[in-house]
Amino acid sequence: MENLDTRYFPNHKEEVCYNYQKIDQLSPSKQYDKLTLRNRNHSSIWVYGFSAMKRCSNCILTECTPKIQFNEKNICIYCETHQKIEYRGENKLLKILHKYRGRGKKYDCIVTLSGGRDSTFTLLKLVKDYKMKVLAVNYENPFTDPQARLNMRNAVNILNVDFVSFKSKNRIHQRSFKHNLKTWLKNPDVRLITYFCIGCKSLWWDILKIARRYNVRLIVSGMNRFEDTSFKKALLGIPITEKWETTYMKSFFTAITGLAGNPRYLQPGFIPTMIKAYLFGDPYAIGPRVFAGNVTKIDLFFYIKWAEKDIISRLKSELYWDSPKNTASTWRFDCKVAHLKDLIYSETLGVTERDDFYSKMIREGLISRSDALDRAEIENYHSKEIAKELLREANIEYVAFRKALDKARVTSNPQA
Ligand SMILES: [Zn+2]
Repeated sequence: MENLDTRYFPNHKEEVCYNYQKIDQLSPSKQYDKLTLRNRNHSSIWVYGFSAMKRCSNCILTECTPKIQFNEKNICIYCETHQKIEYRGENKLLKILHKYRGRGKKYDCIVTLSGGRDSTFTLLKLVKDYKMKVLAVNYENPFTDPQARLNMRNAVNILNVDFVSFKSKNRIHQRSFKHNLKTWLKNPDVRLITYFCIGCKSLWWDILKIARRYNVRLIVSGMNRFEDTSFKKALLGIPITEKWETTYMKSFFTAITGLAGNPRYLQPGFIPTMIKAYLFGDPYAIGPRVFAGNVTKIDLFFYIKWAEKDIISRLKSELYWDSPKNTASTWRFDCKVAHLKDLIYSETLGVTERDDFYSKMIREGLISRSDALDRAEIENYHSKEIAKELLREANIEYVAFRKALDKARVTSNPQA
């Protein structure tokens, strides 16, 4: 079972994907073909069943996607209920920037920076196009890809901006990641994958502290609405059309239920991190709302159009920005844990955050379905390889990890 590669069938990408399950875990109501796989050493044999899965004829989501339904034209409910992304407009953005220009002692605003494409572009735009005096603030995520660090260094040097970074105390981020991943493996529940990232989730607390320290009243980030993953909402029992701004609070109760079901997460050493994460885990969580005081937080791509090609082209030519050589994607490489989460989604649900992202791009007319299929196939594959590296770094046996995935698949997959 440790050999993923034998389960990778590139020729079947167009209209079907395959849902593999061990024969003894198959749903009795479904017809399966049988497939025998050997491991790399040809020493053992496992038998899997597989069934052709259909995809939406408009986007690339498969019938494994949580809560998906298809109409008579084979178009999925995610496409049918998609609401076109509306931008508030550059004029509104300029008014806000104007209001804060010259208001801080030394800086007009903070830009949160990870070295990924959207945050680096936000910095470029604010400094070069809008002539704001910016303080770049970075959370030193221990799982940051080295290329993201290089991107930050280049951007800060070229744009000549001051840069502040902060990190978690006592390696709490690394420790909580390892603890929560191991806890998850003991009782895998796809809804609780978010706990891996608990160490990262209190960053709004620190960013607000930095804003106060430097007397800055405006924080600009580079979140974009394509990253508002719809299938995760379905997984958490939230309507897929729920707005980003209200999703976090609604997911709170599912998270509490999940914690109650697996008290191992609540080891005393991690409880303060857990509480802080839920208060500050999102700009729309309770913490930033209550403690922001006179600090305003906005997102560049809620105002101006997110245009992938232009973003990449400007970043490369003006800031020598790049993505790592071992990934095929320019999106979300900056944290290695994102790859691990996608591996789990892929293996348990048959859908990844990339599939969701590219499906939204199709619906918004930014990419063709055929291009999306090509990109998702290649990028999902690379993403899996990086996830395996991370498991090695965390000293987690791949075989134990695979066992947990098989267990999670049975409990989470709507086909099972
Ligand atoms: Zn669709």
